[in-house]
Amino acid sequence: MRYISTRGQAPALSFEEVVLTGMASDGGLYVPETIPALGHDDLAAMAGLSYAEIAFRVMKPYVNGEIDDATFRGIVEEAYATFSHDAVVPLNQLDANHFLLELFHGPTLAFKDVALQLLGRILDHFLKKRGERAVIMGATSGDTGSAAIEGCRHCDNLDIFILHPHQRVSEVQRRQMTTVLADNVFNVAIEGNFDDAQAMVKASFADQSFLDGTRLVAVNSINWARIMAQVVYYVASAVALGAPHRAVSFCVPSANFGNVFAGYIAKRMGLPVKQFIIATNANDILHRTLADNDFSKQELKATLAPSMDIVVSSNFERLLFEAYGRDGAAVAALLERFQAEPTALADAPLARLRESFASHSVDDATILEVIREAHHRTQEILDPHTATGYRAAERARADAETPVITLATAHPAKFAEAVVKAGFPGVPLPPHMDDLLEREERYTVLPAELSAVQRFVVENRR
Ligand SMILES: *Cc1c(COP(=O)(O)O)cnc(C)c1O
Repeated sequence: MRYISTRGQAPALSFEEVVLTGMASDGGLYVPETIPALGHDDLAAMAGLSYAEIAFRVMKPYVNGEIDDATFRGIVEEAYATFSHDAVVPLNQLDANHFLLELFHGPTLAFKDVALQLLGRILDHFLKKRGERAVIMGATSGDTGSAAIEGCRHCDNLDIFILHPHQRVSEVQRRQMTTVLADNVFNVAIEGNFDDAQAMVKASFADQSFLDGTRLVAVNSINWARIMAQVVYYVASAVALGAPHRAVSFCVPSANFGNVFAGYIAKRMGLPVKQFIIATNANDILHRTLADNDFSKQELKATLAPSMDIVVSSNFERLLFEAYGRDGAAVAALLERFQAEPTALADAPLARLRESFASHSVDDATILEVIREAHHRTQEILDPHTATGYRAAERARADAETPVITLATAHPAKFAEAVVKAGFPGVPLPPHMDDLLEREERYTVLPAELSAVQRFVVENRR
């Protein structure tokens, strides 16, 4: 198994190289050269297995023997032992054929833990084997930073620096990052906004000379290992509901498209999926593209579902690569046009996408209405991201017979603002986090200056 770029120019890489590399040198994203098959018998044999065992079986062909089976099994088991629910990602039945897949039982209460608990351990394994150390840099306005910190806090060969905008993230989100006191974790509060923080991280990746040869690693969702880890819960939940003997549909609250793209990969491997429903908030580029063929940027809107606030969906490029018949030159040309002006997909690729994907966009007022309505009908309090999914599943499903699984991407306690606005007194943090507001914090405030940030990284990496 080799990995190739969606823009067709960068060299093919091994799994190990792809995990350590991030973006391809031609500006594209890496995808597997061939998609391994999960046959009818493979799926049937997964019934009743543990999540970790299903994870091992689904991911093994992507790892390609580059981690021996016993070691990889150990990594997978360790990663998912950090989840507070025995089922890791339990299914919660809402009515006759609408289910919630609860992806929020990891250390930071959002679905990003599923991938980042695994990615940190895989990176550490490869770095130890090579006798190297690496630095992770990231900018966050919320979920990714804390999930990355939790995923790397025990990794001896990694130092992680996460930049957040000073006094502009919620207290719960800040504390989820700053109360991790491990020696290899560095939280930096930037005197500026998220874009300032993001720009400094981008500049550091573009010119890494300040690190004198130490590798800089990205853990955002362009890293293939994150997609790979997310394929697993599509397979596990569909098998729990009767796959391969019965098809299911999935509804996915979406932003950068990493989550739902993993579902698409599961389908291409052989999982019987009738439909993927993409739920967006008011930042609806994915919905506009699918529904109206309006592939254009619009201004960022701050919504009640902030982890879905994006202008461009970075992983959509991976789906475009498939829709365009893996023609890297066509993808590169389309994305070049897209950067410059509003554009549209060609007819045949768009038709191909519409065979598998439907979409629905949900504004803030509707998010509040859905939180109340879902509670009235099911007694569940949904987080605002999951609420977009709940509504989209009802409005965009192709039929009433196929079970639909809505992905619950965050715990409602993490996004209390929307829950309170919807008229509820709030949701308590789960027991393992109930002292979060009393824990000691550690972070460094720095000006929004590239040289100050880079000096801090160089002086503090171990
Ligand atoms: C990151 C995130 C999303 C969006 O996922 P993508 O993979 O970027 O599409 C949705 N909900 C929550 C809670 C998130 O943290």
